[in-house]
Amino acid sequence: MKARPTEPVAIPPQVPVRDLAALLEVAPMEIIRELFKHNILANINQVITYESAALVAKELGYETLEAAPPPTQSAQKHEPSGHAGGHHEAHLVHRSPVVTVMGHVDHGKTSLLDTIRKTRVAAGEAGGITQHIGAYQVEVNGKKITFLDTPGHEAFTAMRARGAQVTDIAVIVVAADDGVMPQTLEAIDHARAAKVPIIVALNKMDKPGANPDHVKSQLADAGVVIEEYGGDVVCVPVSARQNTGIDELLEMILLVADVQDLKANPQAKVLGAIIESRLDKNRGVAATVLIEQGSLKVGDVVVVGAIFGRVRAMFDDKGKQIKKAGPSTPVEILGLPEVPRAGDRLVEVADEKTARSLATQHAQQQKVESAGGTRAISLDSLSSEIQAGKVKELNLLIKADVQGSLEAIKQTLDRLDEDTVKVRILHDGVGNISETDVHLASASNAVIIGFSVKVDSAAQRLAQNEGVDIRSYDVIYKLGDDIEAALKGMLEPTYREQVDGHAEVLQLFKVGKTTVIAGCRITDGKLMRSSQARVLRNGKVVLSGQIASLRRGKDDVREVASGFECGVTLEDFNQFEVGDVIEAFSKVRA
Ligand code: GDP
Repeated sequence: MKARPTEPVAIPPQVPVRDLAALLEVAPMEIIRELFKHNILANINQVITYESAALVAKELGYETLEAAPPPTQSAQKHEPSGHAGGHHEAHLVHRSPVVTVMGHVDHGKTSLLDTIRKTRVAAGEAGGITQHIGAYQVEVNGKKITFLDTPGHEAFTAMRARGAQVTDIAVIVVAADDGVMPQTLEAIDHARAAKVPIIVALNKMDKPGANPDHVKSQLADAGVVIEEYGGDVVCVPVSARQNTGIDELLEMILLVADVQDLKANPQAKVLGAIIESRLDKNRGVAATVLIEQGSLKVGDVVVVGAIFGRVRAMFDDKGKQIKKAGPSTPVEILGLPEVPRAGDRLVEVADEKTARSLATQHAQQQKVESAGGTRAISLDSLSSEIQAGKVKELNLLIKADVQGSLEAIKQTLDRLDEDTVKVRILHDGVGNISETDVHLASASNAVIIGFSVKVDSAAQRLAQNEGVDIRSYDVIYKLGDDIEAALKGMLEPTYREQVDGHAEVLQLFKVGKTTVIAGCRITDGKLMRSSQARVLRNGKVVLSGQIASLRRGKDDVREVASGFECGVTLEDFNQFEVGDVIEAFSKVRA
């Protein structure tokens, strides 16, 4: 075991597994494993309490202390560490808010971001206007605001699903002449699921058809009650095109940020999130990082998932070369050997040796995850988690064919007994289950309920990768029964079959007296040693059984991919014929 620091590590009262792993410089899998030893089933995005985190840290040889509880939900995630040492609180300083713009298509999100960028960049920095790195900062009354340049709740939630929740405030743009639309409602739900405060920008006020009062009452219907109506949501009329109301909007952002009292420790070990990245012909990999805590410097060694490297050069959002960047600052860094993904976390480590081992462990972890090793919450797993007292809330995302079904489902769920677990509907809508829905479910540990709707194929794939449980129903009472049973811990797990691949039998080899090896070529998918298999002859099933051995040449192998040849034997079956098709399949949780 490597030497552990003698000073205690500050851990927040609530910490995602991923961040704890970064703080302790171990692979997330190691944390998950330790938690499992204590009967805590967690995935990488799961938020665990200080008590659980301290337990794990101790096992790994760390002293811990609980970081001061942050004043707000959104400040909390920015302070995963006060860094080792007991003076962490003294090191906390104010940081500027990070803002994401969301709303319905064509309501003016891009125009608003462009207007703010073009008109609010300080004089003398105008040369930087054309620079686009995925985020930019503006200064208002001597204070800074960081805007993420990719508008929309899709990007926002995809980042969250990857473990990076960097947004402090969501500006929801609503066109005053068009009103609240389906994507407006989605954006509101996504912001709420992330517990991020909302500011409404009532855009296109210059248009003759603008009807702000109508929009305000629509918003109230959606549960977004603005100040004027007695609520606490700030609403600012603007025109992105005519550049009016923008100053008020920016001031309101600062005001809401003040209430949040956002802080971070610039002296802590650097934690950041990848906002955007690309391969530049001349400069190599350029990645935009939003610093969450600590101060990133040129020369620092950083790990981003399975990638690690040294920061070779760093630029701010105006393209100016800089040497150091603190919390809430977006910077473009050069020096990573590969292109990371948006939403990946960046951590600073002491040296390349630590970086290498952390990156390797992460790569292994990814393999485990893609093999379905970790799962988000599912209705099946719910009962055991309720019994273990780990779940207090069941988050649901409901998609239905028509509004009427949605209402009926909500009523059914309302009637459920909520003694132990509260059912919380994060989002409901009419339409098929999309990738964005899966991202939201993954980011919020929710189960998706589909009622007479389809699941988009991309969403299906993503759900499988992320371990998101999608339940499809055509009858409302069945849906209600299932949820009730899950809440009571009585739901039987359901399995479905997943075809892994097919192989065609080309030759037969007799070994010993009885054993017959089928020499095959994989025609699609793959054959795995762990798969079950059925033998198909002229389209009919001859046998269904277990694969007994899988060989490439003389070697036993765990799997063989499409296009390759291999030798297969099945348990208790020797009657292969040339031309048979072997279909390999696995049972997976439905
Ligand atoms: P997005 O899809 O939400 O990013 O919307 P865009 O920013 O692309 O804007 C959609 C359309 O609305 C464009 O044609 C804009 O020029 C127009 N638009 C945006 N803001 C305003 C505004 O304040 N007033 C008027 N009249 N048009 C606007």
